Amino acid sequence: MPETSRRRVLTGDTPTGSLHIGHWVGSVKRRVEIQETHDCFFLVANLHAFTTRADKPEEIRRDCIEVVRDALAMGVDPEKASIFLQTEVPAILELTYLFSMLLPYNRVMRNPTLKDELKVKGLEDNYSFGFPLYTVGQTADILAFRAHDVPVGEDQVPHLELTREVARRFNKYYCGVPDKAPDEEHESLGGVFPIPVADVGKVGRLIGTDGINKMSKSLGNSILITDTPKQVKKKLGKIYVGVDNRQPNDPGEVDPEKNPLFQYVETFIESPDEVAELRDRYARGDNIGDGVVKVRVAECISELLEPMQDRRKQYESDDVILDILHEGCRKAIAATEQTLEMAKEAASLKFFDRTISI
Ligand code: ATP
Ligand code: MG
Repeated sequence: MPETSRRRVLTGDTPTGSLHIGHWVGSVKRRVEIQETHDCFFLVANLHAFTTRADKPEEIRRDCIEVVRDALAMGVDPEKASIFLQTEVPAILELTYLFSMLLPYNRVMRNPTLKDELKVKGLEDNYSFGFPLYTVGQTADILAFRAHDVPVGEDQVPHLELTREVARRFNKYYCGVPDKAPDEEHESLGGVFPIPVADVGKVGRLIGTDGINKMSKSLGNSILITDTPKQVKKKLGKIYVGVDNRQPNDPGEVDPEKNPLFQYVETFIESPDEVAELRDRYARGDNIGDGVVKVRVAECISELLEPMQDRRKQYESDDVILDILHEGCRKAIAATEQTLEMAKEAASLKFFDRTISI
């Protein structure tokens, strides 16, 4: 792959179901912007989907296609960005093994997102050996591309911190980068890996329609990009808005800040004046309750989804998606084989040349 001066980007999704509006605000919107100016690689983390659904390979395969279809519908452009499958890129898996030696076991297990996932997904006493390993795998997803920027939601920030630690340690052990070198200087000091930064979207953690947890594919609290206006309205109608969001200092007024619905107001109603007015009227109880707010938010979300649903129709054929993936995988293999070679050379692991083609 020819080196360019553009910054490289890596991010992606686990194929655990269709994409939702949380993905849009947390990561995909940024991907659509950044694909114009950066070298973008968007991954379908199909191996990571096996951490919780190893018994459902066919479902995972189907979700891989759906996730790509959804991302294309949201505006990811396959002419500008490479979309690829994790399992077609062997360098990622090889780097995962190597990086697992650079991270203390207890450090991996302390990751707050990992702990939270084990809890909310009900896996606390019964998770596979591979479940915590996926966080190490994610460091390899990113570093295999020597990515500089990673557009993600807030929940991914601890994973990014782990990635930054691996990159620093690798560069120190195998490339002679001094211990206290500033992050931005690692590459110019001879490090194989740049120290990547998280690029968190405007809304880093959109709350789900349960009003409690992060909107999440696998928690059934999502508004999907394929939802019809009727479905959006129904889901929003059920959103839990909190038991009592009265202001402590003024029991007559309600506090929009404590009402999860107002995150949707801020996120999906475009006009700042309308948002301010709704907030004000709601706080004063001026002839406006949750119902009115929900209907307005539902309208705005459906307006956002309509062009996505139109665009999605262009990608109905699975063969078209597979062709896009094939091309994306080729580019991803080229980029990561180059990184792997550099990493192996640095770590005295390179013995022979190899070529991989698909
Ligand atoms: P799962 O439940 O399987 O973990 P998920 O809904 O969390 O699914 P991921 O594939 O793990 O989706 O995440 C893809 C990207 O979307 C990540 O960058 C993640 O941070 C972001 N993201 C996911 N959910 C939200 C959300 N509710 N708000 C903001 N960003 C989100
Ligand atoms: Mg997730």
